[in-house]
Amino acid sequence: MAERVYFDNNATTRPLDEVVAAMLPFLREEYANPSSVHQFGQSVHHCIEVAREQLAALLNATPREIIFTSGGTESINLAIRGMLATRPEKRQFITSAVEHSSVKRLADALEEEGYRVDRIGVDREGRLDYDELADRIGADTALVSLMWANNETGVLFDVERIAALAQQRGVPLHLDAVQAAGKLPMDVSAVRGLPVQLLSIAAHKFHGPKGVGALFVRRRTRIAPLLYGGRQERELRAGTENVAAIVGMGVACEHARTALAGGEYQQVRRLRDRLEAGLLERMSNAHVHGGGAERIINTTNIGFEGLEAEAILLLLSENGICASSGSACSSGSLEPSHVLKAMGIEPSSAHGAVRFSLSRFNTEAEVDHVVAVLPGLLERLTALSHA
Ligand code: PLP
Repeated sequence: MAERVYFDNNATTRPLDEVVAAMLPFLREEYANPSSVHQFGQSVHHCIEVAREQLAALLNATPREIIFTSGGTESINLAIRGMLATRPEKRQFITSAVEHSSVKRLADALEEEGYRVDRIGVDREGRLDYDELADRIGADTALVSLMWANNETGVLFDVERIAALAQQRGVPLHLDAVQAAGKLPMDVSAVRGLPVQLLSIAAHKFHGPKGVGALFVRRRTRIAPLLYGGRQERELRAGTENVAAIVGMGVACEHARTALAGGEYQQVRRLRDRLEAGLLERMSNAHVHGGGAERIINTTNIGFEGLEAEAILLLLSENGICASSGSACSSGSLEPSHVLKAMGIEPSSAHGAVRFSLSRFNTEAEVDHVVAVLPGLLERLTALSHA
């Protein structure tokens, strides 16, 4: 057993050795600016274009539709602000009540700037209210932005249904695919692919480096840049490229594509299911949030009734086990996650919600270790809290 069990892969993943190896030359000898006209610069430029092809292949897009950014948050901000800027007469923005803070807080800012923001609700399992979405889309809708996979629960939205609806109503759609990319097959191709205009991804969620992401911008979709400066990235993202990170992201895409094609991810699902079943069997106060919905293969969000997630996470950490919670500690009181709140989860279960997110680097032995250790830790915690 490794000293550390890492079950926090929705926060970030371990970069593949191949990714790190591919990046190193660009941190050392291949340092030329890819915009320079000399051969040194142009050979670096070529490597960015190879990475663009690797990214496009993962999404079944064309390379011209890929814009490199500094990560998921920037892609999301570019997509949303970039689209709204080209449609200033439309004043309604539609999203959901369970988005990652990069969309949620931007939506709050847009509201302050005068936009009407509609946050579509979810049911108890975290599934989107598709009827409400259909009702809300109207002549004033500038953009619909929804997540593909939820970072806290792993619940998947039915993106085909969403995209079909948006297309039917002639409204542009942005998908936050940060937790989905590299973990499930994606096809945004023009002919039979998902009819989405904008889609955000981040490399570090699928074994690539941090601080690099991409925005898919469908051909003929017009958006405005956030940054003005050089002419990089078809003038949609000015600034000298983070070449090493972009190259690393390309390699991570190649590996994700192979792993997806080879069914390697089914192994992750088996481990997640084993962890879930093991914990539920041993603990009567445990409940899986979103367990009744379609979920991404690697995530489980388990509420331990009557306990505090922070205390559980500390105990786990002391025992070398890394997990997360959606709760944020604000002014001394623990606020349950907005995601679980929107699902209508009772505070007693939401406060004790722990997210375990796995990857292909995890093993059955690690799962069995956590299943063996956690019940005892929680018994101690329960005894302490009743003392
Ligand atoms: N969207 C989702 C669903 C996420 O889980 C995250 C990161 O956790 C982001 C966006 C933001 O990505 P980044 O941290 O790479 O900016």
